[in-house]
Amino acid sequence: MNVHEYQAKELFVKFGVPTSPGRVARTAEDAEAAARELNSDQVMVKAQIHAGGRGKGTFKSGFKGGVHMAKTPAEVRDFAAKMLGETLVTHQTGPDGKQVNQVLVAQAVDIAKEYYLAILMDRATGAPMVIASTEGGVNIEEVAEKHPDKIIRTPVHPLLGLQSHQARSIAAALGFRGGPFRQATDLLLALYRLFVGCDCSMVEINPLVATPDGRVLALDAKFNFDDNALFRHKDVVAMRDESEEDPREVEASKYGLNYIGLDGSIACLVNGAGLAMATMDIIQYAGGKPANFLDVGGGASKEQVSAAFKIILADPRVEGILVNIFGGIMDCNVIATGIVAAARETGLKIPLVVRLEGNNVEAGKKTLAESGLALTAADDLKDAARKVVAAVGKAA
Ligand code: GDP
Ligand code: MG
Repeated sequence: MNVHEYQAKELFVKFGVPTSPGRVARTAEDAEAAARELNSDQVMVKAQIHAGGRGKGTFKSGFKGGVHMAKTPAEVRDFAAKMLGETLVTHQTGPDGKQVNQVLVAQAVDIAKEYYLAILMDRATGAPMVIASTEGGVNIEEVAEKHPDKIIRTPVHPLLGLQSHQARSIAAALGFRGGPFRQATDLLLALYRLFVGCDCSMVEINPLVATPDGRVLALDAKFNFDDNALFRHKDVVAMRDESEEDPREVEASKYGLNYIGLDGSIACLVNGAGLAMATMDIIQYAGGKPANFLDVGGGASKEQVSAAFKIILADPRVEGILVNIFGGIMDCNVIATGIVAAARETGLKIPLVVRLEGNNVEAGKKTLAESGLALTAADDLKDAARKVVAAVGKAA
């Protein structure tokens, strides 16, 4: 799960990570009011979407930039009016962009230097890793590619946590001295407490800035939370903005389905994550592109299967469906009954290829055969993939 920058700032405040003051606004008038409250001669107006690269993004209206500096509250209102309700396209949103429903109005900070700072779960060490760089404010992937020496990586022992000597080493390596050195050290330790305390899988500050008067502040924030730990963070869950998420995934999460939307045209409904991965691979191997990852799990009910099938059918990208079930704990007839119910309710008009194997497979095949649904049966995984790719090709 992700949150907006203004919500990340609330968590910064809670954990003592210094940041610029500001608040969210949902109308141009309220943005102007927020600017007056700040009583500052320079104010930032920042589009709030779950994607980075806003500063360099462009609105579909032609208006350039999702991050602007304003000198008066009236100017803040004008910028907010140009962003609210409009669609912002950045290198992270994809060509469809994201609609801006709120803006952050924050005190503008004078910047002496921009840095990059992140903490994430590192697969190689199986532990948290602090990533820092003096090359902040810009595309960090580019820095990593062209100047790998400018990226400071510090693995953290998961039980000991970030040690103060480690925080001091990082602050020193970033070139901080004197007062800013102590501030950067404290900020690192506070950010680590936030990372662990909120069960984040990633926190990223780009830019972290030093000001000419010697302060160190977080000016941007991207958070990612471990979904499996959300049950113990009601305050974080309350920050969820479903309008930022793939509507297919929002619907799937209501039914406890493991669903990830993709861009291809062949939907798959599978039990077991490994089998779902293998099914996506074999669809590609047969020359098709998967429209989703979907693992209905080992103990799915008829209702869950039915919901999964409806989510698939509601997706305009989907031109064909491959059901691949290997029934271990899963009863093949539960799957068959769920599919038949959903297909009857929604009216199935696209090719459906089904491969059922395992627990109660005969009953499952009988249910499908007696349903009158126009489906193609497959003998094995390879056969199923070939058949669905061919059927979609023919339909096109
Ligand atoms: P992003 O483009 O989505 O990463 O959004 P950011 O929050 O990083 O804003 C883009 C850029 O705007 C930053 O890299 C800064 O250079 C600039 N910026 C953001 N906040 C401030 C501020 O308070 N003062 C100044 N001078 N520049 C800012
Ligand atoms: Mg940024």
